[in-house]
Amino acid sequence: MSLLHPDAPDDELDESERIAPDFLRLPQPEHYFAARAARLRQLAQNSEQAALLDFCAQLTQAQQQALEEFPAVPLPDADALALREGCHPPLQASVHARAPAWLEALRRLARQMQSYTEEPERAALERLASARAAQLETQADLILHGAAGEQIAGEPDRAGAPVIAAALQVYWTHMVTNLARRAPDVFERTADITRCPCCGSLPVASIVRAAHGHSVHRYLHCALCGCEWHVARARCCCCKGAHGIAYQRLPVADAQRAAHAIVQAETCSVCRHYVKMIRDERAAGVDAAADDLASLALDVRMTEAGIERHGLNLMRPFGE
Ligand SMILES: [Zn+2]
Ligand SMILES: [Zn+2]
Repeated sequence: MSLLHPDAPDDELDESERIAPDFLRLPQPEHYFAARAARLRQLAQNSEQAALLDFCAQLTQAQQQALEEFPAVPLPDADALALREGCHPPLQASVHARAPAWLEALRRLARQMQSYTEEPERAALERLASARAAQLETQADLILHGAAGEQIAGEPDRAGAPVIAAALQVYWTHMVTNLARRAPDVFERTADITRCPCCGSLPVASIVRAAHGHSVHRYLHCALCGCEWHVARARCCCCKGAHGIAYQRLPVADAQRAAHAIVQAETCSVCRHYVKMIRDERAAGVDAAADDLASLALDVRMTEAGIERHGLNLMRPFGE
C-alpha cells in the first residue's frame, strides 16, 4: 500500500494566473507572530505533536511581544544599498552586519521561555540567557548560513537553536518592514526565485492565497523574515523547471476531507526535491510555518520516498 497519495493538480491554474499578482507580500508586524501562535494552538488540539506545537506557540507569542518592543536600529543607507556586491538582496542574512539589539531580544526570549520548560531544556535556556555575545553571534551565523542553504564549519547549540532562530526572525522581520517603510521600492524581483528577495533565505513552504475574488496565487514564504514572493504554480521552487511536477498528500479515509487537504507536497521528478504547498483558501487562519510544523508526517514520508526538502522551518533549525 502506498504511504503517499497522489493529489490532483490545481484545476483553477489557467484562470487564476490571468490576473497579475502582487510580487511581494510583507509581514504585518501588528499581528504576524500572534497569528502564527493562534494557529499553532489550534493545530495542537488533537495532535500527536501537541507538546512541540504548544511550546512553539508560546515562543511565537513571545516573538510578537519582542517585535512590538524592538528598539529602533540603523537601517542600511542609500550608499550601502547601492554598493551591494553581486546584487544580493538588500538584507542578505549571511552578510548583513547585525545590530546588537537582536541579542537583547534573544536573552529576553530565553528568560521568558524558562517558565514553559522543564529540565534539561530549562538549563539550556539559562545558559543561553547568560551566554557571551561572541558565542551567540557564532550560533547565529550557523543558523543563517543554513537558512540560505550554505554550510559553514561549527558545532550548533541544538538545544538553544530554536530560540536563537526565533530572535533572528524577530530582528529580520523588524528590519524588512522598517526598511520597506522608508524605501518602498527597495525590494525587487530577483533572478533566483528559490531564495527570498529581501534576505536571501530559503522558504519554509509555499502558500496558495486567494486574491482578487476568484483568483488564487502561489507565494513562497521566507523562513527568516516572513516575506512572501510570488512564484507561478506548477513550477519547481528548487530547480525552476516546469516538467515532472506532481502533488502528494497523506492519505485520509474521508473523501471529502481529502478534497480539502490543506497541506500538499509539490514534488519535482527532475531534481527530486519537494516544497510543501499550504492551501490558504481552504481553511481560515492557516500559516505557512505553523501548518508546515504540524505536518511533519508528510516530511517523513517524503524522506522515505527519497525526495529531499527544499527549504527549512526555523522552529526546527537543524531539522530535529
Ligand atoms: Zn526573507
Ligand atoms: Zn526540480
